[in-house]
Amino acid sequence: MKAILDHIGIAVKDLPAAVAFYRDALGLEIEAPEDVASQHVRAHFVPVGEPRLELLEATAPESPIAKYIEKRGPGLHHITLRVENIEAALAQLKARGAKLIDEAARPGAEGSLIAFVHPSASAGVLVELKQSANQSAIRNPQSAIQRFTLGDLELISVDDGFFRLDGGSMFGTVPKVFWEKKAPPDHRNRILMAMRPLIVRGMRTMIIDAGVGDKDDAKFHDIYGMDRSRTLDDALAEAKISPEDIDIVLATHLHFDHAGGFTVRDASGRIRPRFPRAQYVVRRGEWEDATHPHARNRASYIADNYVPLADAGVLLMVDEDQTIMPGVRVQRTGGHTMHHQMVWIESGGARAAYVADMIPTTAHIPDAWVMGYDLYPVDTLFAKQKFLQQAVDENILVFFEHDPTIAAGYVREINGKRTLQPA
Ligand SMILES: [Zn+2]
Ligand SMILES: [Zn+2]
Repeated sequence: MKAILDHIGIAVKDLPAAVAFYRDALGLEIEAPEDVASQHVRAHFVPVGEPRLELLEATAPESPIAKYIEKRGPGLHHITLRVENIEAALAQLKARGAKLIDEAARPGAEGSLIAFVHPSASAGVLVELKQSANQSAIRNPQSAIQRFTLGDLELISVDDGFFRLDGGSMFGTVPKVFWEKKAPPDHRNRILMAMRPLIVRGMRTMIIDAGVGDKDDAKFHDIYGMDRSRTLDDALAEAKISPEDIDIVLATHLHFDHAGGFTVRDASGRIRPRFPRAQYVVRRGEWEDATHPHARNRASYIADNYVPLADAGVLLMVDEDQTIMPGVRVQRTGGHTMHHQMVWIESGGARAAYVADMIPTTAHIPDAWVMGYDLYPVDTLFAKQKFLQQAVDENILVFFEHDPTIAAGYVREINGKRTLQPA
């Protein structure tokens, strides 16, 4: 098994003194703290190269950290080794007779799964095993539908399975040593991504984007690591919505992971609109680009996903930022593609935003974390900076179309640092 040093835990009795040393004297940055309720501890991570230090503060007398300090005083508490599959690691240790504190993995900080090995098995050092959030998602895909109420509108986050894209391309100029901590790559350097269309139900029923769909062959599935064990059909059934219920299909842009689900191949092999009653709303500039691809964007555009819509006469082109149905408005962001658009949803004084590929995952919240796929990355940067400030100031519910674990959340700014509070 491959294990990477993730962090070193330090039991802290006097936090201000520890901060005075690690932050003020050494000049290190201390990340916003996170409470781990199950352990009654507050964790303050300190980046020091790839591994981090974790200052652990007890928040209740029954905390294991409080007990440790009482018995042995403050100091080194544990080391954490990151593994790809924590259940497999535990099974392997058990098979070799290693004594475990946790027989099964349980939730840790930052959405991870953790388990402790007994120090008697590991030369007197308490060893924590950790499977980070994205790797946890592979085994516990967060793919249930989620319902939200926004004024008079109902929003339902649905999903169309998972796929994988090259991690380097997904994070542009961000070095791998940084992004691999948030999005661990597989052996082909690909990271896990979800496809999460959004249903908006008001006077009419709309779906924004529709995932990748099911028209692609085995080679495509292999290249993009498609996981079709659950698809948009399953999610719609769970939401009790049939394709006939959809009045409007709204495209943020026409890349295959957003528009593939717009059409289906029927038994006769003919490609037809997947939502038989719907009008499909597409930005005209995006349509022009998608129907005239060049070498830089050709791999993302597959004509079968949208040309049959024009043939069927169900296409509605929009040229400007405008209201598509009451409470739903599109706004061009540019950046990812010249005419990429985000969607604002507003009702009863509350606002939500479906940002599509402007901020594809929660890992893309920091300013410079812009996709290499973007045709105009500096435009993405400026659009994103402006949007995120607004999201913080106005308490906007933000939907992340490709995040493998988090469908939506609120962006908060704590001590000048942005964090996401999952909804
Ligand atoms: Zn895209
Ligand atoms: Zn995308």
